[in-house]
Amino acid sequence: MAGILYLVPTPIGNLGDISQRCRQTLEQADFIAAEDTRVSLKLLNHLGIKKSLVSYYEHNKAFKGSVIVDRILAGETCALVSDAGSPAISDPGEDLVKECAEAGITVIAIPGPCAAITALSVSGQPTGRFCFEGFLSTAKKSRKEHLESLQSEQRTMIFYEAPHKLLTTLEDMAAVFGENRPVSLCRELTKLHEEIVRTTLGNAIALYTQQPPKGEFVLIVAGAQPSTAPIATVEDAASHVAALMAQGLSRKDAVKQTAKDLDLPKNVVYDAALTL
Ligand code: SAM
Repeated sequence: MAGILYLVPTPIGNLGDISQRCRQTLEQADFIAAEDTRVSLKLLNHLGIKKSLVSYYEHNKAFKGSVIVDRILAGETCALVSDAGSPAISDPGEDLVKECAEAGITVIAIPGPCAAITALSVSGQPTGRFCFEGFLSTAKKSRKEHLESLQSEQRTMIFYEAPHKLLTTLEDMAAVFGENRPVSLCRELTKLHEEIVRTTLGNAIALYTQQPPKGEFVLIVAGAQPSTAPIATVEDAASHVAALMAQGLSRKDAVKQTAKDLDLPKNVVYDAALTL
């Protein structure tokens, strides 16, 4: 009889967040598939668990997936862990779940720590409807396309981001969503320096320009407001820019000010200014 694949979430900072069920599952599994065996070994040592570990990560998953599936089909039980949080959520696992499901293997997900849901809960943003957007691409063109596809998204949006890319990401978001869009920056969740900054994209840019971001971040960005007021048109934006330039502002400053005054994304105003 085939074994089972268990998805075992691990703490995102505070080791006290490992649940009894996760601990038992790790103890009882025949083997553990881990994103980084060195990281998981530290957790297992902390829990006093000795178990055979195999690595399963982005660059070996195509080959390792079928090895793991074969072992489970032969009757072994596998516990899958990532470095932190829930496997398969912006972490390796998605493909393994698919492969196991296709092979008729039972997959059981144990609930537990997930940075996205922890951040959403504490964000103060609407939680009734949300979408998870994960990491933006590092390629300029596809990140722009990704953000533009969300321009009129009304649900609360969840993004993961690394600290060294945070400022660029906030700037790219402000260009598409506008500087006044509310954002909750959830930093170092469950850790000593946990901090939630509830502000706007514009203010967040000012803050992290002064004080370089450190630690891990989840960004919870408010969705677009369903508009009741007439939306400013490209023509409105162009004439507003023209009026400000006539007052002596540079084109760049006029675009910035217009985006703020008319609550329009900077890229829309910039395109409008090009028609002048
Ligand atoms: N699968 C994981 C989960 O369920 O939480 C997410 C893994 S993803 C590779 C790592 C990203 O999650 C980080 O870049 C950061 O955006 C977010 N993250 C993880 N731990 C965090 C923490 N303690 N505080 C804030 N964000 C965190």
